[in-house]
Amino acid sequence: MVENERLRQEMRRCEAELQELRAKPAGPCLGCEHSQESAQLRDKLSQLQLEMAESKGMLSELNLEVQQKTDRLAEVELRLKDCLAEKAQEEERLSRRLRDSHETIASLRAQSPPVKYVIKTVEVESSKTKQALSESQARNQHLQEQVAMQRQVLKEMEQQLQSSHQLTARLRAQIAMYESELERAHGQMLEEMQSLEEDKNRAIEEAFARAQVEMKAVHENLAGVRTNLLTLQPALRTLTNDYNGLKRQVRGFPLLLQEALRSVKAEIGQAIEEVNSNNQELLRKYRRELQLRKKCHNELVRLKGNIRVIARVRPVTKEDGEGPEATNAVTFDADDDSIIHLLHKGKPVSFELDKVFSPQASQQDVFQEVQALITSCIDGFNVCIFAYGQTGAGKTYTMEGTPENPGINQRALQLLFSEVQEKASDWEYTITVSAAEIYNEVLRDLLGKEPQEKLEIRLCPDGSGQLYVPGLTEFQVQSVDDINKVFEFGHTNRTTEFTNLNEHSSRSHALLIVTVRGMDCSTGLRTTGKLNLVDLAGSERVGKSGAEGSRLREAQHINKSLSALGDVIAALRSRQGHVPFRNSKLTYLLQDSLSGDSKTLMVVQVSPVEKNTSETLYSLKFAERVRSVELGPGLRRAELGSWSSQEHLEWEPACQTPQPSARAHSAPSSGTSSRPGSIRRKLQPSA
Ligand code: ADP
Ligand code: MG
Repeated sequence: MVENERLRQEMRRCEAELQELRAKPAGPCLGCEHSQESAQLRDKLSQLQLEMAESKGMLSELNLEVQQKTDRLAEVELRLKDCLAEKAQEEERLSRRLRDSHETIASLRAQSPPVKYVIKTVEVESSKTKQALSESQARNQHLQEQVAMQRQVLKEMEQQLQSSHQLTARLRAQIAMYESELERAHGQMLEEMQSLEEDKNRAIEEAFARAQVEMKAVHENLAGVRTNLLTLQPALRTLTNDYNGLKRQVRGFPLLLQEALRSVKAEIGQAIEEVNSNNQELLRKYRRELQLRKKCHNELVRLKGNIRVIARVRPVTKEDGEGPEATNAVTFDADDDSIIHLLHKGKPVSFELDKVFSPQASQQDVFQEVQALITSCIDGFNVCIFAYGQTGAGKTYTMEGTPENPGINQRALQLLFSEVQEKASDWEYTITVSAAEIYNEVLRDLLGKEPQEKLEIRLCPDGSGQLYVPGLTEFQVQSVDDINKVFEFGHTNRTTEFTNLNEHSSRSHALLIVTVRGMDCSTGLRTTGKLNLVDLAGSERVGKSGAEGSRLREAQHINKSLSALGDVIAALRSRQGHVPFRNSKLTYLLQDSLSGDSKTLMVVQVSPVEKNTSETLYSLKFAERVRSVELGPGLRRAELGSWSSQEHLEWEPACQTPQPSARAHSAPSSGTSSRPGSIRRKLQPSA
């Protein structure tokens, strides 16, 4: 054991040394012959360790076996002791019973002679005695039976004694057997212990021998490593020198970096400045272009005239009925889209307007024509678009349209939205809408909570001369959805107010007022443009004799306001000093949007059928008359008449029979209808 312990210590020391060697840098040893050797040694060592561990395992196994055998021996000894004790007890018990049986037999033997005596005496006695004798005999008999029984018991007991003797012998043999077995196991165990001891000793000796060999190899290895270390030192010195040099360089690096950053920053700053100045230049150019665009646009509109009149002929519809009354009476000039021919009472009449739209023209075509006007609203101009014409000629269709095919109102707002969106980077815009109607010279808010309330037109108290309508509801709109909601609301207001909406709407002027307020984000410049979209009341004339009461009053009001509109437009076009805005609610309300450099467009709606020719003629005359008012002082026409309300009401087509080749509007002094230098052609009816 001592030797074993010593070897273990030796081995631990070897392991520690080995560990130390392993911890040393292995780099320089790579490839040298010692490393290979040491690896082999290490392998061997680990193998030996493994074997030793195995021997240890075997030893502990043998120890366990010896322990088990010893335990078993103790157990057998214990059992033997128990058997011996049991046997002694049994012997004790049997001898006691034997003793008892002997005693019983002795006592029984002692009892029998007196009984025999009684029997003899009874034989010579009388009958009484005989009876006694028989009794005695019976008793004797009984006693004899008892004796026999006792004998039987005795015999049984003897047998029992014999069997217990046999048992004892058997137990003794068993004990002897156990003892011999024990002896043998003990011998075996001793033998095994001996052989194990030998094995152990042998294993320890072998391990020791191996460890010694390994130690030697490890020592050699160590020597090799030492020499390696000596050769590595110079290399380490050069590495340290290199490292120090690099360290010095790194210390200088931030300064270098700062220098570089400074120069790059300066370059970037310069570049940004250049870009900035470029941007400024571009912005300046853009603004100049914007101004130019506005100027060009204004020039275009000016060339087209600030007041323009176009006609739109609706298609023949089912409502026009059938027969000669529903035949078409309107034709167009294939080469000139500003000419319209009407066959009235068999006579052809021609008119020239700024543009004429045939029934084939779509809503989009018409909108295309007014688009420029609408966009000028964003630049701060006021614009009026009127739909004029007899009831059923298509005014509402042109202005409102149908849900599937909307008219100017909705398209205008959509266009405004998209234009405003485009300019959103430079301008901030808000678009608001109001809706009103004028019926019998009473102004009502169609978007208000109280549509019945009469609204007044007032002069702004700020002295600017601007007009405003206190209480007129304004809704801010941002999308087509918003517009639709506003229109719907206005419509509902009108529907609930009037039982016969069609009838009512044809007798009233409907106005949609869109206000576009803008602010230039860079300059803070503000603009306000107003777009007035007006669906006028039906222009048909009500015969003096036929109408009475409210119908006549309505007709008078409509006539008065349409005449006033004609007068105002005429006065504006001829640049008269006084413009009679106050002659009607409509012109008074639109004063701002009709005067100054505002732009006005009148769409004259025309029904093409035969039965309406007289109203159509009247409408076209009105249109051409509005249009023929010349612009500019040099071109002002002296003979320009005014539309008095009387004239509007009393006008009779028969008294002004149009000449086929003459201007249909024939002003009072005929022959002056063509303006000097006019590009008008001599008109010939096409049909
Ligand atoms: P107004 O408003 O002048 O009384 P409407 O706009 O109500 O006339 O038009 C009368 C009828 O003619 C409507 O049914 C309308 O749909 C139809 N209509 C008018 N103009 C056109 C057109 N250009 N294309 C198709 N239908 C039209
Ligand atoms: Mg209408």
